[in-house]
Amino acid sequence: MTEHYCEEHGIEFTEKTSKSGDVFWSHRKDGGGWCNEAKAKKPTQPQPAAKPEPAKRDSSPEVGMCWNNVGNRIGDGSIDRDYPKSATKIKGQYYKYIFGVTGIKLEKED
Ligand SMILES: [Zn+2]
Repeated sequence: MTEHYCEEHGIEFTEKTSKSGDVFWSHRKDGGGWCNEAKAKKPTQPQPAAKPEPAKRDSSPEVGMCWNNVGNRIGDGSIDRDYPKSATKIKGQYYKYIFGVTGIKLEKED
């Protein structure tokens, strides 16, 4: 088996030179016309390195949804009912998050 062999027709290609000077390989088909060898594939260019994913921040949609859930629980009071011991801490974290995202300055109210 040679390097320039047509699997489809079971015949070897012969080297030709096109008018523009390009070398290609083809063979005559039984029914007339020519069967050209597919051009050798160019080596694939190495893909540019993918951009590193930006570091996930706490404002990602998933985290936001979780906090939204916490907010709902704070709103309906279920956080106090289900987590009476840590409700204050959770609320503190929640508001810290909300204010962190919105940029609202949290003033302590006594
Ligand atoms: Zn062929």
